[in-house]
Amino acid sequence: MKPDLFQAPDYYNLDDLLTEEHKLVRDAAREWVKREVSPIIEDYAQKAEFPKQIVNGLAEIGAFGPYIPVEYGGAGLDQISYGLIMQEIERGDSGVRSTASVQSSLVMYPIWKYGNEAQRQKYLPKLASGEWMGCFGLTEPDHGSNPAGMVTNFKDMGDHYLLNGAKMWISNAPFAQVAIVWAKDESGRIHGLIVERGMPGFTTPETHNKWSLRASATGELIFDNVKVPKENLLPNKSGLGAPLGCLDSARYGIAWGAIGAAMDCYDTALRYSKERMQFGKPIGQFQLQQKKLAEMITEITKAQLLTWRLGVLRNEGRATSAQISMAKRNNVDMAIHIAREARQMLGGMGITGEYSIMRHSMNLESVITYEGTHDIHLLITGLDITGLNAFK
Ligand SMILES: Cc1cc2nc3c(=O)[nH]c(=O)nc-3n(C[C@H](O)[C@H](O)[C@H](O)COP(=O)(O)OP(=O)(O)OC[C@H]3O[C@@H](n4cnc5c(N)ncnc54)[C@H](O)[C@@H]3O)c2cc1C
Repeated sequence: MKPDLFQAPDYYNLDDLLTEEHKLVRDAAREWVKREVSPIIEDYAQKAEFPKQIVNGLAEIGAFGPYIPVEYGGAGLDQISYGLIMQEIERGDSGVRSTASVQSSLVMYPIWKYGNEAQRQKYLPKLASGEWMGCFGLTEPDHGSNPAGMVTNFKDMGDHYLLNGAKMWISNAPFAQVAIVWAKDESGRIHGLIVERGMPGFTTPETHNKWSLRASATGELIFDNVKVPKENLLPNKSGLGAPLGCLDSARYGIAWGAIGAAMDCYDTALRYSKERMQFGKPIGQFQLQQKKLAEMITEITKAQLLTWRLGVLRNEGRATSAQISMAKRNNVDMAIHIAREARQMLGGMGITGEYSIMRHSMNLESVITYEGTHDIHLLITGLDITGLNAFK
């Protein structure tokens, strides 16, 4: 892969809206990605392998639990710092950002918010340091967009719970020590259970043959009469709102992350357009190529503003789930279009691993699907503005 010459676009001087802490956190993550991710990521994506050696570095830049309080090992940062870290990691690779998102928003967040003090003390510091990795099991083979239909279930056996069922498409599953599993009790109510690797009857077969998020490990979670200790139930929230609360936090991070992928594609195409000569001119001098670049920076700038504002609302505790849906949907769609245009601007070189664009493009196909598909988020906005439910 070519050396990482990334220069972040900031067309509307949005750095002026950031605090010194935001900029310090972001720049540390940016430097780390340049040093530790860019040189190796193409190779790992080609091999379809998660680069486990970067786990410690992810922990050091605060990517595991950025907003979890310091007393539990988190970085104690605000929502904008959290977003900026996700932006920088996804600038490197959406698969690496997925690993960090799952660890922070889908594993640490529910333990912090819905767990008891003993659970927080036991799990959060180890997850924050990367000593333990976690995964989040909501999706099932027959229930993706409609998780309420899940069939994974547990029975109260007196001194323990007995868990049965299966989850699929689970990021980090093949190597996670801890799984947050959403399952129905005997009355049909959804609860979160902390399932640990090594519990008899619990297996995590890896999903192969992915053309997307190849540097992120994906797998199934199979529960065959798994005895789960009673103290592993998350006691403080149940019902579908519990997993959806985690998804709010993760989708917010994705909204920022997608900007990172788009910025990388734009920056690569801009540089290439000034270097690549055709018909005796740099291709950036042709109006059609300028149109592509001008539209890219316009869309990136709009997404940056939308997402910064969402961060302010999150910091104030005022962001709604529907507002988060709008940003996730808009920004991933924006990034996937920019990746496609940028790839075309590189001509044949755009399909090679010499540049990051094709990898971003393939990765974004997962990002536009997981944590609520593009269409599902549109229906959430539709429901919010009309009050009429298209899901029923
Ligand atoms: C790489 C990867 C990693 C993932 N990681 C995780 C993870 O860590 N944990 C986890 O729990 N899940 C994970 N997922 C699962 C992901 O969240 C689901 O794939 C997603 O929610 C969509 O579910 P589905 O694939 O079953 O598609 P389906 O729900 O079958 O949807 C198929 C199509 O139908 C459309 N559709 C569905 N319902 C409606 C409707 N009511 N109206 C209009 N259109 C509709 C959808 O928009 C979509 O286009 C991951 C997925 C991928 C690809």
